[in-house]
Amino acid sequence: MQKGGCPTGFIQIGDSCLSPSTVKIRFRDLAKQVWRNPDIIDKISIDVVQRTQKNLLSIFYSSHIKPMAIGDSLLRCASEVRISISEEAQKLTMAEFDNYLKHESIHLGYPQHDKGFRDLAEKHHIPVTVNMSQGGKVQLREKIGNRYQTIQEFPDYDAAKRFFDENIKDKKQGRFEIRY
Ligand SMILES: [Zn+2]
Repeated sequence: MQKGGCPTGFIQIGDSCLSPSTVKIRFRDLAKQVWRNPDIIDKISIDVVQRTQKNLLSIFYSSHIKPMAIGDSLLRCASEVRISISEEAQKLTMAEFDNYLKHESIHLGYPQHDKGFRDLAEKHHIPVTVNMSQGGKVQLREKIGNRYQTIQEFPDYDAAKRFFDENIKDKKQGRFEIRY
Protein backbone atom coordinates (compact mmCIF):
# COMPACT_ATOMS: atom_id res chain seq x y z
CA MET A 1 0.00 0.00 0.00
CA GLN A 2 1.35 3.38 -0.88
CA LYS A 3 2.40 5.70 1.88
CA GLY A 4 -0.15 8.23 2.98
CA GLY A 5 -0.13 11.68 1.48
CA CYS A 6 -0.56 13.39 4.83
CA PRO A 7 1.95 15.75 6.44
CA THR A 8 4.25 14.19 9.03
CA GLY A 9 2.48 13.63 12.29
CA PHE A 10 -0.95 13.40 10.69
CA ILE A 11 -2.95 10.21 10.40
CA GLN A 12 -4.52 9.32 7.08
CA ILE A 13 -7.98 7.80 7.15
CA GLY A 14 -9.44 7.39 3.68
CA ASP A 15 -8.88 10.73 1.95
CA SER A 16 -8.60 12.68 5.19
CA CYS A 17 -5.62 13.73 7.24
CA LEU A 18 -6.34 13.82 10.95
CA SER A 19 -4.11 15.38 13.56
CA PRO A 20 -3.65 13.38 16.77
CA SER A 21 -5.73 15.95 18.62
CA THR A 22 -8.58 15.51 16.12
CA VAL A 23 -8.50 11.77 16.80
CA LYS A 24 -8.62 12.49 20.54
CA ILE A 25 -11.65 14.72 20.14
CA ARG A 26 -13.38 12.13 17.94
CA PHE A 27 -12.72 9.38 20.46
CA ARG A 28 -14.02 11.51 23.30
CA ASP A 29 -17.15 12.52 21.36
CA LEU A 30 -17.89 8.92 20.36
CA ALA A 31 -17.31 7.68 23.90
CA LYS A 32 -19.86 10.25 25.07
CA GLN A 33 -22.40 8.84 22.61
CA VAL A 34 -21.85 5.40 24.09
CA TRP A 35 -21.75 6.28 27.78
CA ARG A 36 -24.37 8.30 29.58
CA ASN A 37 -22.00 9.99 32.03
CA PRO A 38 -19.69 12.23 29.98
CA ASP A 39 -17.93 13.79 32.98
CA ILE A 40 -15.81 10.67 33.49
CA ILE A 41 -14.83 10.68 29.79
CA ASP A 42 -13.53 14.25 30.09
CA LYS A 43 -11.11 13.22 32.81
CA ILE A 44 -9.32 10.57 30.72
CA SER A 45 -5.94 11.53 29.40
CA ILE A 46 -5.62 10.34 25.79
CA ASP A 47 -2.49 9.78 23.76
CA VAL A 48 -2.52 9.04 20.02
CA VAL A 49 0.37 7.36 18.22
CA GLN A 50 0.87 5.92 14.76
CA ARG A 51 3.03 2.87 14.30
CA THR A 52 3.52 -0.34 12.38
CA GLN A 53 1.37 -2.99 13.99
CA LYS A 54 -0.88 -5.93 13.19
CA ASN A 55 -4.18 -4.36 14.24
CA LEU A 56 -5.51 -1.35 12.36
CA LEU A 57 -6.30 0.27 15.66
CA SER A 58 -5.59 -0.76 19.19
CA ILE A 59 -6.04 0.89 22.53
CA PHE A 60 -4.11 0.46 25.73
CA TYR A 61 -5.63 1.40 29.03
CA SER A 62 -3.81 2.12 32.25
CA SER A 63 -4.41 -1.16 33.96
CA HIS A 64 -4.28 -0.32 37.65
CA ILE A 65 -7.89 0.87 37.60
CA LYS A 66 -10.47 -1.87 37.29
CA PRO A 67 -13.23 -0.71 34.93
CA MET A 68 -16.77 -0.77 36.21
CA ALA A 69 -19.96 -0.28 34.22
CA ILE A 70 -23.63 -1.07 34.46
CA GLY A 71 -25.51 -0.99 31.17
CA ASP A 72 -24.50 2.31 29.55
CA SER A 73 -23.37 3.89 32.81
CA LEU A 74 -19.63 4.10 33.10
CA LEU A 75 -18.80 4.10 36.79
CA ARG A 76 -15.04 3.78 36.68
CA CYS A 77 -12.47 3.55 33.89
CA ALA A 78 -8.80 3.94 33.05
CA SER A 79 -7.40 7.41 33.65
CA GLU A 80 -4.99 7.09 30.74
CA VAL A 81 -5.61 5.71 27.29
CA ARG A 82 -3.26 5.29 24.35
CA ILE A 83 -4.78 4.95 20.89
CA SER A 84 -2.36 3.28 18.53
CA ILE A 85 -3.12 3.42 14.81
CA SER A 86 -1.53 1.42 12.00
CA GLU A 87 -0.58 3.10 8.73
CA GLU A 88 -2.87 0.51 7.13
CA ALA A 89 -5.80 2.33 8.72
CA GLN A 90 -5.72 4.65 5.70
CA LYS A 91 -7.74 1.99 3.87
CA LEU A 92 -10.65 2.61 6.23
CA THR A 93 -13.45 5.02 5.49
CA MET A 94 -14.11 7.64 8.13
CA ALA A 95 -17.29 5.81 9.16
CA GLU A 96 -15.37 2.57 9.63
CA PHE A 97 -12.69 4.39 11.59
CA ASP A 98 -15.36 5.87 13.86
CA ASN A 99 -16.76 2.39 14.40
CA TYR A 100 -13.32 1.21 15.49
CA LEU A 101 -13.05 4.13 17.90
CA LYS A 102 -16.53 3.49 19.20
CA HIS A 103 -15.82 -0.19 19.70
CA GLU A 104 -12.74 0.72 21.69
CA SER A 105 -14.63 3.27 23.73
CA ILE A 106 -16.98 0.51 24.91
CA HIS A 107 -13.89 -1.25 26.24
CA LEU A 108 -13.49 1.66 28.66
CA GLY A 109 -16.16 -0.01 30.73
CA TYR A 110 -16.15 -3.56 29.42
CA PRO A 111 -12.66 -4.97 28.83
CA GLN A 112 -14.05 -8.24 27.45
CA HIS A 113 -16.61 -8.90 24.73
CA ASP A 114 -19.08 -10.02 27.36
CA LYS A 115 -22.82 -9.43 27.53
CA GLY A 116 -22.48 -5.82 28.70
CA PHE A 117 -20.15 -5.11 25.80
CA ARG A 118 -22.31 -6.84 23.24
CA ASP A 119 -25.48 -5.08 24.34
CA LEU A 120 -23.88 -1.68 23.87
CA ALA A 121 -22.28 -2.68 20.57
CA GLU A 122 -25.62 -3.88 19.27
CA LYS A 123 -27.35 -0.69 20.41
CA HIS A 124 -24.83 1.36 18.42
CA HIS A 125 -24.74 -1.02 15.44
CA ILE A 126 -21.04 -1.66 15.65
CA PRO A 127 -19.30 -5.00 15.14
CA VAL A 128 -18.21 -6.85 18.26
CA THR A 129 -14.99 -8.02 16.67
CA VAL A 130 -12.86 -7.09 13.70
CA ASN A 131 -13.27 -10.70 12.67
CA MET A 132 -17.04 -10.20 12.47
CA SER A 133 -16.78 -6.83 10.75
CA GLN A 134 -14.81 -8.59 8.02
CA GLY A 135 -17.46 -11.25 7.62
CA GLY A 136 -15.68 -13.81 9.81
CA LYS A 137 -17.63 -16.47 11.61
CA VAL A 138 -18.27 -17.02 15.27
CA GLN A 139 -16.88 -20.37 16.35
CA LEU A 140 -18.16 -22.81 18.90
CA ARG A 141 -15.13 -24.66 20.24
CA GLU A 142 -14.70 -27.64 22.46
CA LYS A 143 -11.70 -28.39 24.58
CA ILE A 144 -10.32 -31.73 23.51
CA GLY A 145 -7.20 -32.70 25.41
CA ASN A 146 -5.32 -29.48 25.94
CA ARG A 147 -6.66 -27.62 22.95
CA TYR A 148 -9.86 -26.06 21.79
CA GLN A 149 -11.12 -27.24 18.43
CA THR A 150 -13.83 -25.64 16.36
CA ILE A 151 -16.87 -27.87 16.22
CA GLN A 152 -19.25 -25.51 14.43
CA GLU A 153 -19.35 -22.01 12.93
CA PHE A 154 -22.12 -19.41 13.10
CA PRO A 155 -22.83 -16.05 11.47
CA ASP A 156 -23.10 -14.25 14.80
CA TYR A 157 -22.78 -14.68 18.54
CA ASP A 158 -26.48 -15.08 19.22
CA ALA A 159 -26.79 -17.96 16.77
CA ALA A 160 -23.84 -19.67 18.42
CA LYS A 161 -25.27 -19.09 21.89
CA ARG A 162 -28.69 -20.41 20.86
CA PHE A 163 -27.14 -23.55 19.44
CA PHE A 164 -25.08 -23.96 22.60
CA ASP A 165 -28.08 -23.51 24.89
CA GLU A 166 -30.24 -25.90 22.90
CA ASN A 167 -27.76 -28.62 22.12
CA ILE A 168 -24.78 -28.52 24.37
CA LYS A 169 -25.53 -26.89 27.68
CA ASP A 170 -26.56 -30.13 29.36
CA LYS A 171 -23.68 -32.16 28.09
CA LYS A 172 -21.40 -32.00 31.04
CA GLN A 173 -18.46 -33.65 29.37
CA GLY A 174 -16.04 -31.38 27.62
CA ARG A 175 -15.52 -27.66 27.97
CA PHE A 176 -16.80 -25.21 25.43
CA GLU A 177 -16.15 -21.66 24.40
CA ILE A 178 -17.69 -19.32 21.90
CA ARG A 179 -15.00 -17.45 20.09
CA TYR A 180 -15.51 -14.29 18.08
ZN1 LIG B 1 -12.87 -5.38 21.34
